[in-house]
Amino acid sequence: MSSAEMKIITCPKCGQDNEVKIFRTVNVTTDAQLHDKVISGELFRFRCPHCGHEAELKYPMLYNDMKYRFMIYYIPEIDRSSVIDEKLESEYAEYAELEGVTRRLVGSFNQLKEKIHILESGLDDRAMEIAKVALYDVVCKRTGEKVSGGYFSKYSESEDLIGFTFFIGEDNEHLVQTTRLEIYKKSIEIAGDYDKDTNRNFLLVDRNWARNALYRYKKKN
Ligand SMILES: [Zn+2]
Repeated sequence: MSSAEMKIITCPKCGQDNEVKIFRTVNVTTDAQLHDKVISGELFRFRCPHCGHEAELKYPMLYNDMKYRFMIYYIPEIDRSSVIDEKLESEYAEYAELEGVTRRLVGSFNQLKEKIHILESGLDDRAMEIAKVALYDVVCKRTGEKVSGGYFSKYSESEDLIGFTFFIGEDNEHLVQTTRLEIYKKSIEIAGDYDKDTNRNFLLVDRNWARNALYRYKKKN
C-alpha cells in the first residue's frame, strides 16, 4: 500500500497557500499507476493554481517494488552512506521477508530514476556503479574533457554490451560509452566481495561506493 498526506505549501512566488498531496511511501506493485508518475517526476512537481508557478518538491519517499523485490529510500541531499530504519523494516516485514530484498538510499531524483531502471531490468546496481566508474575514467582519458556524470542507458545480451551516457565538457554534450558484458560480470564479483553484511541497511550505492569497492579490489589483487 502507498501512503500520502496533505500538506499546506506556500507558493514561493505569489505567497498563496496550496494544499498538496505528499507521498510518504509508493508501492508500485499495489498502485501501478504511481510508477509512471514517479519516473516522469509528476509526484514531485508543485504547480501553483493561483499563479502557475512550478517548482520541484523535495521530500523523503520510500519506493517499494514487491515484484522485483527492491526498495529505494529517496532522501533529498542525504549526506550519509547508509540508514537503518527499524520502523520501516517492521512495517514492511509483513509484506515480504526482507531477506533478499535490495534496499537502497538515493539523494537525488535522477539517482532514483536510474536505480529504478537498473533494478527493474534485473541488473545488479552495485556492479553497474563499478562499471560506470571504470568507463567514466576511460571517457575522461579519451576525450581529455571534464566529465560531469553519467547514467545507465544500454544493456544487451545479444550484442554483448552494456552502455552509459556521459556528459562531456562545458556544454554537457552526450556521449555513449559501451563495453562488453564481461566488465559487468567482473564487477558483480568485485561488488560482492566489498558488500558483505549490508543486507539490513538502506545503502547508498553511488560513485563513491564504487570507487571504494574498486580501490579495495585493486589493493587486494
Ligand atoms: Zn503562486
